[in-house]
Amino acid sequence: MHPRIQWPNGKSFAFTIFDDTDYQTATNVAPVYDFLSDIGLQTTKSVWPILGKGRTKIGGTTCEDPAYRAWVVELQQRGVEIALHNVTHHTSTRQETAEGLERFQGLFGHYPHTMANHTGCREGIYWGRARLSGVHRFVYDLLHLREVRNEFQGHIEQSPLFWGDLCRDKIRYVRNFTFPEINTLRACPAMPYHDPCRPFVNRWFAATDGSAVASFTQMVSEPHQDQLEADGGACIMYTHFAQGFADKGRLHHRFETLMKRLSNLNGWFVPVHTLLDFLTSTQPARNISTTDRTRLERRWLLHKMFTTKGRT
Ligand SMILES: [Zn+2]
Repeated sequence: MHPRIQWPNGKSFAFTIFDDTDYQTATNVAPVYDFLSDIGLQTTKSVWPILGKGRTKIGGTTCEDPAYRAWVVELQQRGVEIALHNVTHHTSTRQETAEGLERFQGLFGHYPHTMANHTGCREGIYWGRARLSGVHRFVYDLLHLREVRNEFQGHIEQSPLFWGDLCRDKIRYVRNFTFPEINTLRACPAMPYHDPCRPFVNRWFAATDGSAVASFTQMVSEPHQDQLEADGGACIMYTHFAQGFADKGRLHHRFETLMKRLSNLNGWFVPVHTLLDFLTSTQPARNISTTDRTRLERRWLLHKMFTTKGRT
């Protein structure tokens, strides 16, 4: 169990959201961001800085679209953290990833503080079966959760898709496991942690699994909000705002109700990297122990075995 944290400014708990940019346009999630600004929640939105030349399975607008780019820059000015979801929505070579990171820096004035792998990108770093170790990787292979061996190669130095050194040099935090638990810190007390077996990532963070509006609203239900506050915990929701949060300009009613309620609690509502920087400052840099990593892997595998959602 994590020792109780003294949150800044006398706050009782922390809450934030990492929004995966899949299927987004300049307009379809704008109502969600306007609403979050209105109620004072600062969160994190991922982007694809370049379009690239490849084919995509799951797409969305990239920062090469002028209207979308202008909107994302405006979001950043409003206090939204802009994060990376690989450099575009399909596989990129090392050179393309390097170019995408520079484009990101040019647009937003810094390299990404946080990032989450996009499953459609084979340069995913320690993704697929590489998320797991030893017997857990064996179980993962047996379950065919991801079928292709070494499908994801961002951390494999011999691969043309390798960019591990760039990730280590430029990005502070990468997301790994998600759990059905409102207090992300209870599920992963070590975060943000370094994993010596995955050295190209500086620090990993976990998240609470709220992939689309149904699972998101289930996870941030009234009792869960109260539990998070009572625990003095921290929640990083991982979601896709293009999946049901707004329809033709109207917010999903239950989402709106729950977020308004949450915003009236005594929470610290800051972007993901601000929360992770704070956690880093409260605990000395440390490597995750084998026991703790084994526990995370086992719990995540069990979660995935009993849910149909495989993307997070
Ligand atoms: Zn994605």
